Amino acid sequence: MRRALIAGNWKMNGLKADLQELSGMAKGFTPALRVRTDVMVAPPATLLFAASAMLIGTGMTLGAQDCHEGAGGAHTGDVSASMLFDSGAEMVILGHSERRQNHGETSTLVQAKVRAALTAGLHVILCVGETRAEREAGRALGIVRRQVRQSLPEGLHAGAISIAYEPVWAIGTGLTPTLDDIAAMHADIRKTLRGVLMKGAAEKTRILYGGSVKPENAAAILALQDVDGALVGGASLKAADFLAIIAAA
Ligand code: PEP
Repeated sequence: MRRALIAGNWKMNGLKADLQELSGMAKGFTPALRVRTDVMVAPPATLLFAASAMLIGTGMTLGAQDCHEGAGGAHTGDVSASMLFDSGAEMVILGHSERRQNHGETSTLVQAKVRAALTAGLHVILCVGETRAEREAGRALGIVRRQVRQSLPEGLHAGAISIAYEPVWAIGTGLTPTLDDIAAMHADIRKTLRGVLMKGAAEKTRILYGGSVKPENAAAILALQDVDGALVGGASLKAADFLAIIAAA
């Protein structure tokens, strides 16, 4: 019922020359893989136009990493959701922990960004996740429930959003939660979504896992119930690694 989505987040990595990796991904994303899995790559904003041209006819989707909550105006250095859409992006990652931590983004602000992105016609990948201290204090489920409730407008339909559960302490560290902990969190997120989204939409909404996903651990994580794909950082920068994760889905 839910097709897997493997999404790559290039973060602040990638110059023009690195588009050759994107080209390698597109070449390796064979029809056999396409029938099973959706794939998105979010390069930095500077590469969106060029990447968009490159992905035509490949079956891969272009994504962006953030947007401003406003429609336009005096916001030096910011990029609006409609600008991303105009550049060829179809999805946007919002609420990533690096934005929440390094830019002080609150769930209230993230919700405003979600509204702006949906208005512009973008699909949203909303990131949520607890810190190590919060997990050790037994607060992980509560923290993530609150982030989901506060970051999403009420009553969204199926297809508007995906969730990416990304424990902050697992991002870029090589650490991952146990498979049981991932499964428990994803089941809990789906329960929370039942109270937030339109009736029936929670069952159709993809919940991705993110945090040190690699070719070696992807198959076990992606086989878990309620894990509908992955948000991949470091391992999405190289075509060979990213394609191996796509194949594991
Ligand atoms: C991310 O930042 O979204 C991420 C999952 O990074 P990594 O795969 O490098 O841990």
